[in-house]
Amino acid sequence: MKKRYSVIIVSPDNSQKPRQIEFTLTVKKILIAAAALFFLAVSLLAIANVAQASYIKEVQRKIAYSEALEKEIAAKKLEIDRLNGITDLINADLQAIAEYESEINSVLDLPSPAGAAPELSRGGSGEREAPVAASLDEAAVQVAAYTQSMKEIYSASLAFNETLRHLPTIYPTKNGVLSSGYGYRSNPFGGRSSEFHDGVDFSCPIGTPVYAVAAGTVISSSYESGWGYKVTISHGNGIVTFYTHNSRNLVQAGAVVDKGDLIAYSGNSGRSTGAHLHFGASVNGVSVNPLSFYESKD
Ligand SMILES: [Zn+2]
Repeated sequence: MKKRYSVIIVSPDNSQKPRQIEFTLTVKKILIAAAALFFLAVSLLAIANVAQASYIKEVQRKIAYSEALEKEIAAKKLEIDRLNGITDLINADLQAIAEYESEINSVLDLPSPAGAAPELSRGGSGEREAPVAASLDEAAVQVAAYTQSMKEIYSASLAFNETLRHLPTIYPTKNGVLSSGYGYRSNPFGGRSSEFHDGVDFSCPIGTPVYAVAAGTVISSSYESGWGYKVTISHGNGIVTFYTHNSRNLVQAGAVVDKGDLIAYSGNSGRSTGAHLHFGASVNGVSVNPLSFYESKD
């Protein structure tokens, strides 16, 4: 016999007659399967709903992110404009530096650095044209190149200054009056003979300060017959100056003197016809007119 099931439906207030529904095992299985399918469908819907909610959240997050990006891009554009402005300012400065570099090089008589930044320098022979940096990166390269160039100019200027320090550019006395020039002249002690005057004379009272006309080393300081008290200084590059007829020498052989150092007081010692300073010079052992140092070399 087929197993049968029944369900009795009773109304809560007994107003209706109870009803009995009978069904077989097959129907029961169908009902259970239907219930399971229904439950499955509801579950799938719920899962789909959760997934959709999370998708919506993700989309909202992306929209917010994209809005933030747009704002950031706008800010970056402003920043790029600002940086471009700075590049322009640096270019103006580079232009000024290039002009100064060229001026300094001509003052120091240096060759122009040809190609601290070859990819940007135009022309090529001698003058370096002012660079134009297209970006801050290029500007940084240019500034680095000029920094190097300035270092070289600094070194050259130190060398130039050192050379200048050792060249006679000041007179040995501040208030002497040139009384006798360089070269052959009639003998100041009388007679018909002429003598070679190895220097120039500055007429000045005894005790007038005598200064080193350039930096150097005192190679002798002594009394010599004829010259009287004499100081001789070697300035390097073969240049030697000497100061004679002094009343008193203030430096000794071996002393290192700077340009303008007080080295003696003028006098009338040795073979002299009156109070004066005799100032002489030689280059590489050959006597020269000391005044030639002060003449313009142009
Ligand atoms: Zn003289």
